Amino acid sequence: MLFRGQDTSESLFPEDSSMRTQVAILGAGPAGLLLSQLLSLHRIESIVLEKKSRSYVESRIRAGVLEHGTAQLLCDAGVGERMKKEGLRHEGINLGFSGQLHRVNLSELTQGKAVTVYGQHEVLKDLIAARLRDGGQILFEVDAVSVDALLTKEPCVRFRYQGENLELRSDWLAGCDGFHGVCRPSIPPEALKVFEKTYPFGWLGILAEAAPSWDELIYAYHQDGFALFSMRSPTVTRLYLQCDPDEDLSKWPDERIWENLERRLSFVGPKKVRRGKVLQKGVTSMRSFVVEPMRHGRLFLAGDAAHIVPPTGAKGMNLAVGDVWFLARALDFFYSQGRTDLLESYSENCLRRVWKTQRFSWWMTTMMHRFERHDEFEHRRQLAELDYVTGSVAASTALAENYVGLPWAG
Ligand SMILES: Cc1cc2nc3c(=O)[nH]c(=O)nc-3n(C[C@H](O)[C@H](O)[C@H](O)COP(=O)(O)OP(=O)(O)OC[C@H]3O[C@@H](n4cnc5c(N)ncnc54)[C@H](O)[C@@H]3O)c2cc1C
Repeated sequence: MLFRGQDTSESLFPEDSSMRTQVAILGAGPAGLLLSQLLSLHRIESIVLEKKSRSYVESRIRAGVLEHGTAQLLCDAGVGERMKKEGLRHEGINLGFSGQLHRVNLSELTQGKAVTVYGQHEVLKDLIAARLRDGGQILFEVDAVSVDALLTKEPCVRFRYQGENLELRSDWLAGCDGFHGVCRPSIPPEALKVFEKTYPFGWLGILAEAAPSWDELIYAYHQDGFALFSMRSPTVTRLYLQCDPDEDLSKWPDERIWENLERRLSFVGPKKVRRGKVLQKGVTSMRSFVVEPMRHGRLFLAGDAAHIVPPTGAKGMNLAVGDVWFLARALDFFYSQGRTDLLESYSENCLRRVWKTQRFSWWMTTMMHRFERHDEFEHRRQLAELDYVTGSVAASTALAENYVGLPWAG
């Protein structure tokens, strides 16, 4: 049997349509693909199963800000070459309010650290290319996926692939299948505790063919609501507006979007938002979500399968990367030294960082958005908070060290 997207013509399946690997990974997002790459560096075998096609995964526009540690880990994992050439290193971000821009110098406040602007789909292209080049196994367009035997020593994934019903058995199962995947719902509800918060607004985002007017990101607080100016490359701008959570996109023709962006992103100085052809438009809801624990038997949850953050802190993809850094290390200790202690503490270690990141994303969200349009006390309080954060070295250092990313451990 041949596999789409693979260089090898060898069949993975023995006659009975079942197969085995050390780690079965569900989902070819940042969590699943990076885990597979890190495991291969430790000579641990894995097979990645992905519901969507390779071209879909490689063109899905999502996150784009890599923490310092994420960029470093991609380089250490051998997939950072193109990112180093094409990614944009940002040593600062701007907070905009009351018509003024205030720069937070990330590098100066964090002993030289920075973030890298490089699209999530570009990271995925690099990871897929590396896995396939090294003979890694990724099965795209699998269907009817279910997981079973999670509390045994050989968990099992059943799925349909190229018209056949197949079964994958493994030592461990990594649930990297995102918020809507099958892994988390396969855990009995009584074994999980769910923490959830929804926000009374969403983000209307556009991708535009326009050279960025500013060199660095701008998080803008405005009487009409939040706006974010960001970029994906020297020719593509990514812009967001606070909107209703169930906003009807048909009420937002391009002209209305640009007018709102221009108003909310208007600051002293000659620079203005540069308009361009709108390449993509969409509304994202905002929620904070965590399940505890992030493990059930031999199933480990990682990334969006276990937690969601509002995008204001640019943390979703970075949290997924942090989880699989822990998991790859724990599996390496298991296979190389027979140690199970890091597997046992996986959930606890991840959750410590997840909750700190939830806190930061919640804080950025509450500081930058308008909750009640007519609540003047809140408005004044938020302005005072922004004034304090941008005026105090201690407060801007706290923002900077969270924005470039907290250490993986400790
Ligand atoms: C619209 C959108 C915009 C975003 N924008 C930002 C942003 O600006 N900044 C930011 O920091 N974060 C952003 N995020 C969050 C960030 O993209 C995610 O946190 C990140 O993708 C998490 O990676 P992951 O690998 O855990 O999950 P995902 O990237 O969701 O990957 C999960 C994969 O599993 C696959 N899958 C699902 N079900 C199955 C199944 N049953 N079997 C096999 N495969 C399955 C999916 O197709 C997917 O490829 C955004 C997310 C969304 C949805």
